[in-house]
Amino acid sequence: MTNQMDSFDRTHRCGELSRTDVGGRAVLAGWVQKRRDHGGLIFIDLRDRSGVVQAVIDPNENAEAFRTAHAVRPEYVLHVAGVVRERPEGTVNPGLATGEVEVVIETLDVLNTAKTPPFEIERDVDADESIRLRYRYLDLRREPMLANMILRDKVVQATRAYLAGQGFLEIETPVLTKSTPEGARDFLTPSRLQPGRFYALPQSPQLFKQVLMVAGMERYYQIARCFRDEDLRADRQPEYTQIDMEMSFVKQDDILGLVERMLGAIGTAVGSEIAVPLPRMTHAEAMGRYGSDKPDLRFGVELVDLTQCLGNSGFRVFADTIAAGGSVKGIRVPGGESFSRKDLDELTEFAQSKGGKGLAWIVYAAAGPKSPIAKFLSEEELSAVKSELGIADGDLALLVADKTPVANEVLGHLRLEVARRLDLADKDAFRMLWITDFPLFMWDDEEGRLDSEHHPFTMPSEDSIARLDDDPLACTAVAFDLVLNGTELGSGTVRIHRRELQRKIFSLLGMDDEEAETKFGFLLDAFEYGAPPHGGIALGLDRLVMLLAGCASIRDVIAFPKTQAGSDLMTGAPDAVSEAQLRELQIKLR
Ligand code: ASP
Repeated sequence: MTNQMDSFDRTHRCGELSRTDVGGRAVLAGWVQKRRDHGGLIFIDLRDRSGVVQAVIDPNENAEAFRTAHAVRPEYVLHVAGVVRERPEGTVNPGLATGEVEVVIETLDVLNTAKTPPFEIERDVDADESIRLRYRYLDLRREPMLANMILRDKVVQATRAYLAGQGFLEIETPVLTKSTPEGARDFLTPSRLQPGRFYALPQSPQLFKQVLMVAGMERYYQIARCFRDEDLRADRQPEYTQIDMEMSFVKQDDILGLVERMLGAIGTAVGSEIAVPLPRMTHAEAMGRYGSDKPDLRFGVELVDLTQCLGNSGFRVFADTIAAGGSVKGIRVPGGESFSRKDLDELTEFAQSKGGKGLAWIVYAAAGPKSPIAKFLSEEELSAVKSELGIADGDLALLVADKTPVANEVLGHLRLEVARRLDLADKDAFRMLWITDFPLFMWDDEEGRLDSEHHPFTMPSEDSIARLDDDPLACTAVAFDLVLNGTELGSGTVRIHRRELQRKIFSLLGMDDEEAETKFGFLLDAFEYGAPPHGGIALGLDRLVMLLAGCASIRDVIAFPKTQAGSDLMTGAPDAVSEAQLRELQIKLR
């Protein structure tokens, strides 16, 4: 931190003082980390954003300051002036950046007092998270939280610097807007001026950024807040921040390349090397090998197709599944011999909870294979499974027979579960990759219609356009996700930029002309005025910072996050409103 002048005439920041300042004067301001009375002297650890320095008062030299210091408690705000000196022999603190020096206080002013905080402002905190959230201003004073805020700022500044250098314009888009189609529930805000009408808070700036391309901005970005009213999971917040970008006259490779270079620049700025270019994997390959569109590559345990070697199996479940066009697939669990019968029962239940009909297991012990289905399998089959999976003595094989997509998905979950139980993932590894060639649509069982895999503005791949009517579920999209250690970090697509194709997609999604017109008429209109080819992506800033910081919770990298129930424990939002406010909005609670 640079020494900016302020009205308190600070000459230094606490954490900056070092041997080179010895003999000089220092004027500091900050919070009391600790006060100790020791051998007739009072020691105060004074903290500001830059760090902590020890200040000392000798009653023989400064009786008045000594009296004041006596009343000082943790988190009092002080303004002190004094002389920097080397710490006496044997009192140097190598654990503290300023540990070689101390400030001998000449004057001390208490700028403010503080109640005893509900938890100590220390590195590690044992307070419940709800207390930390309620007193967030105290929690943020803790060094790791401050470090997270600083890291976040660095990521944002590096992003801005990189994109500005690449000719991007930072443009804000509205927060009070119309429902956007990211597929989550909207947060709504009633309009007082137009009773009965509502704004929706944006789930993303998707439509605005596309319109900005029609408007000729060519390269847009925004550190954008997005709002999605979904049930919250551990790494989800109802409002969160995206690095949101859009570019004209680009194809997929341009977008991926630009994002890779941006990630490289961010990595350099925060001192975590991100090796680019990133590997790429098609969606089909990811599903086939990892049973997931966000594969965690920090460990192996890949899915292997055993359909060939079990095609003529005497085990009915396998034979019938294969005859019906399904697959038998398996994973190798290294050292899985250690799993107890209870573990295996739990894994079976787990597989069922993920949509599998069951789970077959074979323990390849040194003495030979053990399995409830061993008696139905021939020796050749047992050894074929063993060699296909690359099994060594002491390993376990887990097999699932089902329709291929189901088998993939169930084994994908099992793969993660087994890795969790055996702690297979290298905690320090950073495995980022692109997933490409997503399906354009998925089937929405509940609604009984097609739904977009990404969003309705996604360009079908060239060879899919002719197949839209005949075989929509086989169509692929020019869509890509950025995945890191098994989490989705970002998602983007090349967009449709022609009105007719956009309408066609809307109609395949079950939207008639009238609905398309009401919801997205402005976009369809814009497409009639010279829309350039364009595409873009959004990266989750909170998640990116969380992973760079090595935090377990996304809440630790957001200054004022919400709880799982969507509450802000500090302000008390959401809250009831007055009858008068409701009346003004013409709203009556049911
Ligand atoms: N709007 C998309 C999202 O928020 C990202 C994109 O396609 O640019 O997921």
